[in-house]
Amino acid sequence: MNRLLTIAMLAATAPAQMLTTWRAESDWKPAADPSAAVWKVEGVRTSHDRYGRLVPGADTEIRSRWTGGHLYFLFSARYQNLHLKPDPTREETWGLWDYDVAEIFIGWELDRIGRYKEFEVSPQNEFVDLDVDYFKADKSYMVDWKWNGGIEYQSRIDRDAKMWYSEIRIPWKAIDQRVPKLNNELRLNLYRIEGGPANRKFLAWRPVYGPSFHAPQAFGRLRLAGAPGAARKKYDVILKGGTVLDPKNAIQQRRDVGIHGGAVAAVEPSIDPALGYKVIDVTGLYVTPGFIDLHVHVANGSGLLGSLPIDQNVYADSHTLRSGVTTAVDAGTSGWRSFPEFKRRAIDVAVTRILALLNIVGAGQAGPEPEQNVADMDPAAAAKVVEQFKGTIVGIKTAHYRGPEWVAVERAVEAGRAASVPVMVDFGLFHPARPFQQLVGEKLRPGDMYTHTYVASVPMLDDQGRVMPYLFEARKRGVKFDAGHGGGSFAFRQAAPAIQQGFYPDSISTDLHTGSMNGPMNNMLNVASKFLNLGMSLPDLIARMTWNPARQIQREDLGHLSPGALADIAVIRLEEGNFGFVDVLGARMQGNRRLSCELTMREGKVVFDLNGITRSDFRGLGQYTSQADPVWDRVLSPPR
Ligand SMILES: [Zn+2]
Repeated sequence: MNRLLTIAMLAATAPAQMLTTWRAESDWKPAADPSAAVWKVEGVRTSHDRYGRLVPGADTEIRSRWTGGHLYFLFSARYQNLHLKPDPTREETWGLWDYDVAEIFIGWELDRIGRYKEFEVSPQNEFVDLDVDYFKADKSYMVDWKWNGGIEYQSRIDRDAKMWYSEIRIPWKAIDQRVPKLNNELRLNLYRIEGGPANRKFLAWRPVYGPSFHAPQAFGRLRLAGAPGAARKKYDVILKGGTVLDPKNAIQQRRDVGIHGGAVAAVEPSIDPALGYKVIDVTGLYVTPGFIDLHVHVANGSGLLGSLPIDQNVYADSHTLRSGVTTAVDAGTSGWRSFPEFKRRAIDVAVTRILALLNIVGAGQAGPEPEQNVADMDPAAAAKVVEQFKGTIVGIKTAHYRGPEWVAVERAVEAGRAASVPVMVDFGLFHPARPFQQLVGEKLRPGDMYTHTYVASVPMLDDQGRVMPYLFEARKRGVKFDAGHGGGSFAFRQAAPAIQQGFYPDSISTDLHTGSMNGPMNNMLNVASKFLNLGMSLPDLIARMTWNPARQIQREDLGHLSPGALADIAVIRLEEGNFGFVDVLGARMQGNRRLSCELTMREGKVVFDLNGITRSDFRGLGQYTSQADPVWDRVLSPPR
């Protein structure tokens, strides 16, 4: 495993990045007593080292409170061995960090993050404070150690309990001239050092991933909250006033949605806005689970220049989030040999959740000729890689096969059976030696998917224009029909009579790639709008973009807004007017309704906001700085 991946995994399990400090009515003298009434508040707990690794026996809890004049911290530190300076003094102590110590690094600056103050207090009441300018050009990052912030503090060692406590009171004006206000956020990291040179432990609240605590890019946040007894903010975000369409839970009503910790916390007729840290007014809009696009090509950045299929891949985030798609399933761009590289280059770094159907060809879609290479269709090797990445690889794909035999389909199904995952088939050349009727009637198993349902070459209609019975029978047998619009696979002359006669797609997907993105396909909501204007209802559409595809890829944790589900959410607008839609043959259809994406959330964070409905009018913001807010916002990333 490479180092970056290790760090990414550790970061995912690291403690929360926000410490809440609770407002208190009046000031008090530090006494290092965790049982005092003023300290009956929640804090954060850490027992991790600088790299986010657990350090047994070094549990540390930090609580915080604030008043108009001061900011308070209380460290409760479990120790194994104390390492104390032999000759303690109340004077400022240079080099205090060579002994056991509690440390606070704190700054107001969200843009100039190298500007912060450092405060340290030892278990035996020594201190040091520093004014830091970390990014100063001459690298003398400590501006002035003679600077004195005027902190007050009290430490206490309980040798029986093997605990030490330190309460530190920082005047606000020691940090900056700013006046603290409710909901302000500061940048913060908290550290503890324990032990002598031989067994030194460096504990960090937010992992710094390096030898030095001076890593401002790794700081977390301190949020100024009201009194702890007052109504607590139960939700990070409330989506207020929208109509929820959640097919899994059969909801098609006006509902508020409360989100907390990246998950759906409540879907109620009305949620008190006072309970939300951030309230977003979505009146007149539809709130749905984030869309799952079952057929895209996003194995970008492969470096295989000159390879047409690879060059046809797009960056998922450039297309998905702006049309409400939060999960994109790459349909067979990679095979068992190329998947790990695809994962590293695209899946691991995208905001979009990218899943994959693994091509039965080991090289994946590496070009029209490699896709014909039967010798590279290895069901056992493919199944093994599916098992290795189960949940991210959600099925097998075969595509673009031109030969007269069933070998591509059969090997894909064999791999799917071995790994207990479904298969998606792009039938390639509709060869008379292997009829389509036999594919969906016999070869595919229940749960397997055929994509490109409305392509012109599917034998769909009889001489009277009726949808042929074998299609309904295949569906009854459990075969799933995916839209897979793409650059060449959606014709109104097939889709219009099919929809009219009730042969709907089971899932709506784009087949996004460079050859489809600017053509008639355009994006997920344009594809959905075609079906809407062909006569499907909005709830029927949403089901085929959320709960249906989630089940088809065995990811039933996705595609719904049940409490506890990840808060992947699309907020969409149903526009009325005169619109035109085009199919892949170049034929046009007039329509009067169109869906557009207003807002997209990925795990509780806003990742797309078309009209700035999450934002405040600039006229009311005075001399404003960055409005980034890590609680709900992933559009503006916190300054680095
Ligand atoms: Zn495709």
